[in-house]
Amino acid sequence: MANIKCIGILTSGGDAPGMNAAIRAVTRTAIYHNFAVKGIMRGYKGLVCNEIVDFHSQSVSNIIQQGGTILKTARCKEFSSPEVRRKAYDNLRAAGIDALVVIGGDGSLTGASIFAEEFNIPIVGLPGTIDNDLGGTDATIGFDTALNTIMDAVDKLRDTASSHERLFFVEVMGHTAGYLALNSAIASGSEAAIIPEMETEVDQLAELINQGFRKSKNSAIVIVAENPETGGATGLAERIKKEFPEYDARVTILGHIQRGGSPTAIDRILASRMGQAAIEALMEGQRNVMIGVENGRIVYVPFTKAVKHNKGINRDDLNLVKILSI
Ligand code: ATP
Repeated sequence: MANIKCIGILTSGGDAPGMNAAIRAVTRTAIYHNFAVKGIMRGYKGLVCNEIVDFHSQSVSNIIQQGGTILKTARCKEFSSPEVRRKAYDNLRAAGIDALVVIGGDGSLTGASIFAEEFNIPIVGLPGTIDNDLGGTDATIGFDTALNTIMDAVDKLRDTASSHERLFFVEVMGHTAGYLALNSAIASGSEAAIIPEMETEVDQLAELINQGFRKSKNSAIVIVAENPETGGATGLAERIKKEFPEYDARVTILGHIQRGGSPTAIDRILASRMGQAAIEALMEGQRNVMIGVENGRIVYVPFTKAVKHNKGINRDDLNLVKILSI
């Protein structure tokens, strides 16, 4: 192990339920192993602006059940500049921090990777994002809670969809990935999931209308992954108005409610296990890795693999949605 005495923690990018459970696990495991701990506020922004506070065991009391992040989070575009990263490094050294745990999504881990290489700092990442779009891990912290939130919302929308015999497009988050859309479609018994991964292969809307909906259903819920290029659910509803005017199509954009709320047991346990693993990884001399889980086991995933966006969706799951919606 490099000569680590003090570990800094930060949360960065979009907040995700379970980040607090991860902060708690990192802090308490570090203290258990006699490290000092410092909390860095507002992600990389706090590192650059020197917002660094001492953390004790009590600093993370009573937070395991809270959504969001007590460390706050921010987007810090300036962190892409080498001069700004130098300032962040100087603040890190001045605070006596020898190693970092970064909790966030692919952007945050990309920043971590660059920072770690540049200044030779041991950094371990935790996948904190509702999108589940990081490579090398079956799940990310926050994904399960977001799925449950979407499922609850769709259960409610279905009452209106079936009473009024409407076609509902429900837009969910996911960045450029369709995991949330596909999995929430299965969990909510939706008729289809329209996801970016399939965009170049088929016209998913035409397929839905022609193959399934037109024949047997008076109402349907279609989960649509957000997509700035196609306009997401709103873009699809506009197409329906033009191409299939006989359908009464409505749009619901779930938005930021997907990111909030008390984390599920699955996310709390995942965050706790990963938080402990982050400290143990540093103790083993690991650096530039993200903690992942594969088949229930903790794995170390090099940052370069984690942020590659090559996870790929499970086509069996797409087929499952199709079969179960006949
Ligand atoms: P989510 O996708 O869940 O919202 P994220 O971590 O991917 O989370 P981003 O906004 O992409 O969120 O990134 C968070 C922060 O990471 C950025 O605001 C920036 O500070 C840092 N970051 C991202 N990409 C880079 C990069 N190429 N170089 C340096 N820093 C970066």
